[in-house]
Amino acid sequence: MKVTEHIKEAGGKTLFSFEIIPPKKGNNIQELYNNIDPLMEFNPPFIDVTTSREEYVYIEKNGLLDRKITRMRPGTVGICAAIKHKYDVDTVPHVLCGGFTKEETEYLLVDCHYLGIENVMALRGDAMSHQKYFQASKGGHTYAVELVDQIQNLNRGKYLHDVIDANHKADFCIGVAGYPEKHLEAPSLQSDLKRLKEKVDAGADYVVTQMFFDNQKFFEFVEEAKKIGINVPIIPGIKPVAVKRHLQLLPQVFKIDLPQDLISAVEKCKDNKQVRQVGVEWCIQQSKELLAAGVPVLHYYSMGKSSNIHKIAKEIF
Ligand SMILES: Cc1cc2nc3c(=O)[nH]c(=O)nc-3n(C[C@H](O)[C@H](O)[C@H](O)COP(=O)(O)OP(=O)(O)OC[C@H]3O[C@@H](n4cnc5c(N)ncnc54)[C@H](O)[C@@H]3O)c2cc1C
Repeated sequence: MKVTEHIKEAGGKTLFSFEIIPPKKGNNIQELYNNIDPLMEFNPPFIDVTTSREEYVYIEKNGLLDRKITRMRPGTVGICAAIKHKYDVDTVPHVLCGGFTKEETEYLLVDCHYLGIENVMALRGDAMSHQKYFQASKGGHTYAVELVDQIQNLNRGKYLHDVIDANHKADFCIGVAGYPEKHLEAPSLQSDLKRLKEKVDAGADYVVTQMFFDNQKFFEFVEEAKKIGINVPIIPGIKPVAVKRHLQLLPQVFKIDLPQDLISAVEKCKDNKQVRQVGVEWCIQQSKELLAAGVPVLHYYSMGKSSNIHKIAKEIF
């Protein structure tokens, strides 16, 4: 089923969902299952699986460094199919502009369609680690809106280069990213919201937000989005702080603010066990308030580890 159909069917009840990351290649998928298993108790109607960009690795050979390009966490679509099969739950592969040609994207979408995957998250992706700014891959898309267009074309039965006369249409439900504290490259929140509106106008069916720790920012974002005519469901994405280093890491990577009360509580912790407890409690309070506000789904960034998400969901669902 589509994410939007799940939301409709819930009839105003807030759903539980979460995001996982594929294991590093060379690892067993069992550890991922071990983390998903406990969360199935809360009946997620869908699970998101991220896609990571390719990166450069340097291999020493005869005293020289040989640069190779590799994807450390491949297998997004395979994992989606495996989870769908094992747990009978819908899965949402994240599809990126960065690192893919339009043709590769088309093949990936065709695979998804054959596998019965009905939802995809259309994302631009970040710059590669050695790049200062995002650069489109040769033959790839520059912005997520173009990816939404390509997916919508498949929904109309229009494939690249018009080489076939398709008699069968895909029917993907498309999610896109939204940023309550604006995307790091956007000149202003209003300009970023306009870009979000472009993605919705191109055919995005729902929005999932970047993580935030102050619900007020989310509520204001939803309000502003509605004002400019964004009427699709907006799903809050949230994550519990888990280690002290998150105080620096999260603002640095995601360009988000942490509330002073949360910072003070984390700073008082003697070790990361205490930090996890603070993070869980903060996330429970956030979840309760979002639930009371009637959000369609509470979507948790699990980063592949489920124990803290389980503690939170136990209090909420
Ligand atoms: C819910 C969620 C899931 C994510 N999952 C992944 C994942 O699995 N893998 C991964 O690598 N990353 C993931 N990301 C991170 C995401 O790829 C980055 O935040 C990326 O930098 C932006 O992606 P986007 O789809 O929002 O890009 P876009 O919507 O293309 O926007 C990127 C920037 O360009 C601006 N912009 C958009 N259109 C135009 C235009 N036409 N002209 C000029 N400027 C424009 C926007 O304002 C914004 O600043 C995720 C983010 C979120 C919120």
